[in-house]
Amino acid sequence: MYFGVDYYPEHWPLDWLEKDLDNFVQLGANTLRIGEFAWHLMEPTPGKYDFSYFDRVIEEAAKRDFKIIFGTPTATFPAWLAYQSPEILSVDAFGHQRVFGGRRQYCYNSKIYELYASRFVQALVMHYADCKTIIAWQIDNEFGHEGSDDCYCPQCNLSWHGYLKKKYENIDSLNEDYGTVFWGQTYNGFEEIPMPTATITTHNPSLKLDWARFRSVSLNQFAIGQVDLVRDYKGEHQKVIHNFYGGFFERKYDQNVLAEMLDVVAYDNYPVWGGLRKPISPAHIAMTLDYNHGLKQQNFWIVEQLMGAQGHDVIGYRPRPGQGRLWSWQAMTRGCESLLYFRERTMTRGQEQYCQGLIDADNRNGEKYYEAAQFFKEAKEVAMNWKPLKPAKVAILYGYDNIRSWHEQPQSEAMDFTNEFMRFYEGFHQLNVPVDVLDLEKDFSEYQVVVLPVMQIMTPDLENRLKTFVKKGGVLLATFRCGIKDEHNNLKLGEVVPGGLTDLFGCEVFGYESLYEGLALEVKGSLGDGFVEVWRDLLQATTAEILLTYQDESYKNYAAATSHSYGEGTAIYIGAALSNSLVDALCHKICEASHIQMIHSPQGLEVVQREMNNGRLQRIVLNHTESPLEFEGQIISPYDVVFEECMPD
Ligand SMILES: [Zn+2]
Repeated sequence: MYFGVDYYPEHWPLDWLEKDLDNFVQLGANTLRIGEFAWHLMEPTPGKYDFSYFDRVIEEAAKRDFKIIFGTPTATFPAWLAYQSPEILSVDAFGHQRVFGGRRQYCYNSKIYELYASRFVQALVMHYADCKTIIAWQIDNEFGHEGSDDCYCPQCNLSWHGYLKKKYENIDSLNEDYGTVFWGQTYNGFEEIPMPTATITTHNPSLKLDWARFRSVSLNQFAIGQVDLVRDYKGEHQKVIHNFYGGFFERKYDQNVLAEMLDVVAYDNYPVWGGLRKPISPAHIAMTLDYNHGLKQQNFWIVEQLMGAQGHDVIGYRPRPGQGRLWSWQAMTRGCESLLYFRERTMTRGQEQYCQGLIDADNRNGEKYYEAAQFFKEAKEVAMNWKPLKPAKVAILYGYDNIRSWHEQPQSEAMDFTNEFMRFYEGFHQLNVPVDVLDLEKDFSEYQVVVLPVMQIMTPDLENRLKTFVKKGGVLLATFRCGIKDEHNNLKLGEVVPGGLTDLFGCEVFGYESLYEGLALEVKGSLGDGFVEVWRDLLQATTAEILLTYQDESYKNYAAATSHSYGEGTAIYIGAALSNSLVDALCHKICEASHIQMIHSPQGLEVVQREMNNGRLQRIVLNHTESPLEFEGQIISPYDVVFEECMPD
């Protein structure tokens, strides 16, 4: 297990190095991440490599038995490169070229950038291939973050046409699949096809989905090229990792593709950032951790864990005393096995002056330092005794194409993909039921319950897998707009919704209505009374049992939710965004029927169980609130984490 800090020795006088390293030893750290923004330091002028600075750092670190994760520094390239080859700079959707000065502003399709990056990374990795202190290479930093996944430069335009030509082979196929007969947009050649930059009204939905796929391919090709390069030159003992970041459902790239090529998934865990008034919910943080676990379905590392307040120009919420430790433990319970804090000390110069480190700018060990020290001490004692995470009984599925399709056409002003994804995740999380978060390409056949939120793009393959899953005894819970579209992002002609699945769900969608922001409609039924929002499918049950019915005069004969026995299993269709009480009732009902253990706890108190090597269970109780909460007769202090051992049931 690696525990430590992100260390930027180049930000401080070199004669602080030994004192700093000694201070990290006192902290209980055994690992440092270095180098990920220091390209210029190692190649100050083109082709002139100088690794002497980090040679010295690594030598001193090795004397203290530190292990090192070295970041290949391609997220921030030297100014000389931008000056000499400005065509490497990416262009935004309004045609503005991004200038040197921020970060990540290179184009993934730039052959010149790839050449310079690869040349440097090869020299770096060769230099340290035999270095036993370096145990992993982190490729770049947070690929695609901060809008860097999009670019509309001339190189991208060329690559875009090449991508479409390869995919469709002839222009007639593309015209047919896009339906370009609409608005007379038929193309005579691939070179006529625009990139979806600013226009009047909007671009063709099939084109927009292909653009998102193209962006994903562009980024992943660059990233995987870098992974392959590092693999060619690194030492055998060195792993290859990359640090993913939050907000992944907003990004234009499929992280599963890159994750597959890595040895270990790493994550940068920031439950609060920038101007946020409060952290994202405990369930939302948990989901991001489960998502990262699900990328490779194996344990992951956190290489940036916040302890203090963070932001570039604006800062919001300051994590409360104990909350940094709480979030660290939450991550550990969900499959994190190594954790580094960002960063060692607040930088006093440059763009991240307001990203607080473990040590503040006053350069004294304060409460954040001692909180991290406490976590490291506990983690080495406690988490060492855990067995690896087992798959959960419930899985919630997402698909990259489907997410992109929703982003381009939200249909309701109240629609937010992440909110809809969280709706049932939160329901199970409230019952402390573990949920795996998985890309739909992964095998879900062994789960007891599969949740399929707003899966509007439905392929025949997915239809078949879902039917087989339920037929063999699984419980499937799908929510509104299920199966309305094909893989080209087009509505399915002549098919009743849920497309291809009416026999599975035993219901048909008669019609639909988008519900505007703030509108809530009453529903009633066996799940109780409550409200729906965002959207409503008007359902007619053919062979299904009705769970909820709309109450307004015009549509009071239509169902809002149904449940259907199919083979050995059950298929539940939810035609609207249910209010919390209805979600809770349904999750409870499903767990009860499927004999899945629920642990009832007050709102804000999370309970996770991990199997221990000694055959017992460890219960980790986390209080995410600023009030004391009671759990099974014990008072848990605000933001505290409590460990209990018990026998398995
Ligand atoms: Zn570009």
